[in-house]
Amino acid sequence: MTKLSDNIARAQDYMARFAKEGVMNRIGGQTVPAQSGETFQTISPVDLKPLAQVAKGGAADIDAAVAAAQKAFATWGRMPGAERRKILHQVADAIEARAEEIAFTECMDTGQVLRFMSKAALRGADNFRFFADKAPQAEDGQALRTANQMNVTSRRPIGPVGVITPWNTPFMLSTWKIAPALAAGCTVVHKPAEFSPMTARLLVEIAEDAGLPPGVLNLVNGMGEDAGKALTEHPGIKAIAFVGESRTGSMIMAQGAKTLKRVHFELGGKNPVIVFDDADLDRAVDAATFMIYSLNGERCTSSSRLLVQDSIYDDFTARVAEVANRIKVGHPLDPDTVVGPLIHPEHEAKVLSYFDRAREQGATIAAGGEKVGEEGCFVRPTLFTGATNDMAIAQEEIFGPVLTAIPFRDEEDALSIANDVDYGLAAYLWTNDLNRAMRMTDRLEAGMMWVNSENVRHLPTPFGGVKASGIGRDGGEWSFDFYMETVNVSFPRQLHKVPKLGG
Ligand code: NAD
Repeated sequence: MTKLSDNIARAQDYMARFAKEGVMNRIGGQTVPAQSGETFQTISPVDLKPLAQVAKGGAADIDAAVAAAQKAFATWGRMPGAERRKILHQVADAIEARAEEIAFTECMDTGQVLRFMSKAALRGADNFRFFADKAPQAEDGQALRTANQMNVTSRRPIGPVGVITPWNTPFMLSTWKIAPALAAGCTVVHKPAEFSPMTARLLVEIAEDAGLPPGVLNLVNGMGEDAGKALTEHPGIKAIAFVGESRTGSMIMAQGAKTLKRVHFELGGKNPVIVFDDADLDRAVDAATFMIYSLNGERCTSSSRLLVQDSIYDDFTARVAEVANRIKVGHPLDPDTVVGPLIHPEHEAKVLSYFDRAREQGATIAAGGEKVGEEGCFVRPTLFTGATNDMAIAQEEIFGPVLTAIPFRDEEDALSIANDVDYGLAAYLWTNDLNRAMRMTDRLEAGMMWVNSENVRHLPTPFGGVKASGIGRDGGEWSFDFYMETVNVSFPRQLHKVPKLGG
């Protein structure tokens, strides 16, 4: 038996329960179908075969989940942080214990490949541990004293919150949003993406088995315009943490306006990797190709625009094309596969449409540019050269293993091309000139920048974007600021003169 066939057999075992039970909602510690009884099918992008029927939740299911979250908030929100810390560490341990199941399920449901997903559970567990350790201090504030008064600030959990997640790396992203909410003392109603419902189901099950009380984390599956919309409009939900497309973010902001919803948005990106001719080019080639061709390019921080100084443009892009041509496209459970199938035929059609648009607009396809095989949503790693920044392939988020290379002359030119997009999530800069790195990072419009590096995450640092890439920051204290209300209480330090009116 090869490693791949062995992995496929094990994945089938993990999938069997979902095929039998479906992917149901989980509300107040109970596994329940949608109240309407409706379901929808989730398919695997490997072969488009159905994996399971999924509960198609709507407003009534959201109502029930919010009621459960409100009930649980009365105790979870008041539990000492040290106790929450203990339970969340148990959740982290339990996630690690089911790492293979999480990885295999994610691969089959999303097409993400095992070589990256084998770490998804570890990263998910890290998210829980990191925020768990901060729970005991989450309420802490400052003492701000004047001669007459002592002001004491503290934070308290905002209440039940809604978490809405997308389909790329759904397990990791769900834990990144849910762990800080729970650590802060909030309870959660989670609406995962309809293309990738399976690992969200595993997460709530794992968390409850590990000791998370019922109703603290609730799961409602369904369509964005239905279950998602109802969640954002619900008066019992105090805040919405959303990860997804920029245009969905706009809709959610409008939907939440009536109930004055606090929102946190992690949205799309069209992130530049800028390579100057003085850079360590070997490392720059590896980093640029890693950041666009790993995770199938379905990654918000992918380096989807390659800006290369004109003196090295031809050589550098030739090297990138060589790497792209060598990358193995294949079954996500094959340990050697680098690029697996895109999430869904609808998304594949969107990605493929950019190949035609690139040709029409006069760019060159230097690598890839085609579908692989007849079965499943496989697309070859692609490089467009000869592009200009006004082309759709340079402006729009394609969200696949597709890189657009554009030459630049000097710093000013690089900055103007890099900043001339709607998005501003991440930027990557390659130069060995420290002063240039300072000048460039001062003026690049991005929430996160990496100099001479691919995206290397450190959980205490702020994560988020500027412009159409987001509102708010996650990570460290920033997450708690979102999931908590800061209140101030003022005490007199001495008896001051209170103004007397009417006397
Ligand atoms: P999407 O916006 O289509 O969907 C995301 C979620 O929103 C899904 O659960 C969907 O059901 C829900 N939704 C859709 N319409 C809704 C509505 N009207 N009200 C409430 N919920 C609604 O995004 P996607 O296609 O699933 O994910 C890809 C996008 O996510 C890309 O743009 C990517 O850049 C972005 N993303 C951003 C980050 C980040 O940290 N900035 C991370 C990962 C992904």
